[in-house]
Amino acid sequence: MSHTIVTEKCIGVAECVNACPVSCIHKGKGENNMKKDWYWIDFAACIDCSICLQVCPTEGAILDKEEPNLQRQLT
Ligand code: SF4
Ligand code: SF4
Repeated sequence: MSHTIVTEKCIGVAECVNACPVSCIHKGKGENNMKKDWYWIDFAACIDCSICLQVCPTEGAILDKEEPNLQRQLT
C-alpha cells in the first residue's frame, strides 16, 4: 500500500517532499486545477510511514491509502 496526494487539493508547499524518508514524492508538471504546483507519490517506492501526512498543512491533501484515481502521476 501507499499514501496518495490528492492532486486537486495539493497547494504545492512541498513540506512533504523534504520530510519523506525515501524521497518518493515528486513534483508534477505544470499546475493543478487550482493553478498551484502539485506533487505526487511514487506508489511503488512509498513505505507507508505517514510522515508526509503529519507535515502537510492542507486538510485532505494526503490520504493514508492508495487512490490512483485521485492522484495524477505524470511528471
Ligand atoms: S501534499 Fe501537502 S505538503 Fe505536499 S506539496 Fe501538497 S500541500 Fe504541500
Ligand atoms: S508515507 Fe512515508 S514513504 Fe510514503 S510518501 Fe509519505 S513520507 Fe514518503
